[in-house]
Amino acid sequence: MSRAVLSVGSNVGDSLAHLRSVVDALADVTVSVSAVYATAPWGGVEQQDFLNAVVVVDDPATDCRGWLRRGQELEAAAERIRARRWGPRTLDVDIVVCDDVRSDDPVLTLPHPRAHERAFVLIPWLEVEPDAGLVVDDQIVRADALLSRLDAAERAGVRKLDQGLRR
Ligand code: ADP
Ligand code: MG
Repeated sequence: MSRAVLSVGSNVGDSLAHLRSVVDALADVTVSVSAVYATAPWGGVEQQDFLNAVVVVDDPATDCRGWLRRGQELEAAAERIRARRWGPRTLDVDIVVCDDVRSDDPVLTLPHPRAHERAFVLIPWLEVEPDAGLVVDDQIVRADALLSRLDAAERAGVRKLDQGLRR
């Protein structure tokens, strides 16, 4: 059994619909869903804004690998385009943390190796879990402290939208 924090993102097609497909599919095991946040893309590729949200899930029948698998099934269902790094993506489902598991397995690295430096993960996560923390460099660090370490411009680039994911 496990509880996981999922970061979902999309910047291709109807991004809000892609994010809603995750919330719909996981409705039975969802503990909380953040608002949707928009971030301008980076990496020099012409593309639409990224939409991101955090979904906290808990299911006695799903282990951490199971969350990865379920996320990948949802990505496949959204016909994710994997061609370009930093390029457009229909749907990306990342496991930010899963229980207290720590792993450097490249197939499932936990906590997610870049979550702690991404405002578009930390901001929605803090919205639903204000006391969130994760292990970075062998130390538990609060997510709000991690967020305050980021560039102000990076934090300001993450804008909360009015539309939510729950119907
Ligand atoms: P990105 O790192 O930009 O999310 P992908 O979604 O294409 O890129 O993921 C590449 C690989 O990362 C996946 O095949 C998956 O096995 C692996 N991976 C490792 N750790 C994680 C994690 N915590 N969450 C999701 N995928 C992970
Ligand atoms: Mg991913």
